[in-house]
Amino acid sequence: MTSPDAARLKALDRDHYMHPFTDFKALGDEGSRLITAAHGVYIEDDEGRQILDAMAGLWCVNLGYGRQELVGAATRQLQQLPYYNSFFKTTHPPAAELADTLCGLAPGHINRVFFTGSGSEANDTVLRMVRRYWALKGQPEKQWIIARDNAYHGSTVAGMSLGGMAPMQAQGGPCVPGIAHIRQPYWFDEGREMSPEAFGKVCAEALEARIQALGPDKVAAFIAEPVQGAGGAIIPPESYWPAIKDVLSRYDILLVVDEVICGFGRLGEWFGSVHYDLEPDLMPIAKGLSSGYLPIGGVLVGDRVARTLIDDGGEFHHGFTYSGHPVCAAVALENLRLMKSESVVEQVRQVTGPYLAKRWKALERHPLIGEARSLGLIGALEIVADKATGARFDKSLKAGETCRDICFELGLVMRCCAWPR
Ligand SMILES: *Cc1c(COP(=O)(O)O)cnc(C)c1O
Repeated sequence: MTSPDAARLKALDRDHYMHPFTDFKALGDEGSRLITAAHGVYIEDDEGRQILDAMAGLWCVNLGYGRQELVGAATRQLQQLPYYNSFFKTTHPPAAELADTLCGLAPGHINRVFFTGSGSEANDTVLRMVRRYWALKGQPEKQWIIARDNAYHGSTVAGMSLGGMAPMQAQGGPCVPGIAHIRQPYWFDEGREMSPEAFGKVCAEALEARIQALGPDKVAAFIAEPVQGAGGAIIPPESYWPAIKDVLSRYDILLVVDEVICGFGRLGEWFGSVHYDLEPDLMPIAKGLSSGYLPIGGVLVGDRVARTLIDDGGEFHHGFTYSGHPVCAAVALENLRLMKSESVVEQVRQVTGPYLAKRWKALERHPLIGEARSLGLIGALEIVADKATGARFDKSLKAGETCRDICFELGLVMRCCAWPR
């Protein structure tokens, strides 16, 4: 039974709160679920139901809920120095410590970080850094950024423009100019007539073809998630990343790897870039950086770009009130300390990831599952109407949404990725 207070809160919510990524009218009619607490891997609703949060919030609660060490770090920092900015030649201990810790975890050629409040702001920063870099290099015509269909890079205007979500771009455009999209390495959906190996190479050829079409001296960067998250946990064929890297190095184009989901252990390494050996120039980060306890993001900047921005750039006219926020930074620092001392990343790589992979693959025997794929702690099930052909259910039947709702009723949070394309 819903308590009177819960009923009151749901009414307030319905009348006043415009939720993110939500059909306002439909939610008004159905009402919201009220989540009131969380412990470990479970969230709890107002009726006291424990629900297994397989989404880790929104791919961010990497250490799980209820970690008192993170609460303690926030409390101490709130008492010591709740806020100060790092504009105008100032800094504070948590931001300096966190910058050093992050650069220590990142691949060796990455030794700088720019802090933001979110992953979207990180990608806005990427766009500005990339174009600034080439301008400083005396090649201001190198402006184009190539991204991918069905990518997710956030919901600010730059994030939405870099992303490849057609429904987002259909609202509030026009998008930021100078961004082109190529096909995604989604073998199950787009490549089953060939081997994954061959398909991965075809997708990399699409990158080369687009570079040729735009003009190699006009392309600044390529941006991609190591494994697409919001697009549907799309794990590229093994041949994909080596072929992409090869193309980029031949045309002197920067590589931006969006680590907002794949960073901080999700793929069994500190960064997805390490799993795939990507050596990116820029790595936007957020989400698992603080296990979602407080909002913080950033861009890890490789030496090549950092040197130019530092030595030749003068003032970089960009930053946020909450860049390097001391309380968020203190929580992130403690989060990283715990992940290290508890060997969380190794645990994912050696124990939980392989275990999940084994049990996940077994779901492929189900008549409605066309493919069960996973890597580290990210996994997807392809729901099909016909296992032999891989044909999907008619969209109007809402197969994914139905499965999601049933899972929720049975006590499991998962996500349905049925983006209209
Ligand atoms: C969530 C996400 C973002 C945006 O992060 P916000 O903190 O929501 O702004 C960017 N890139 C990827 C890959 C994401 O999953």
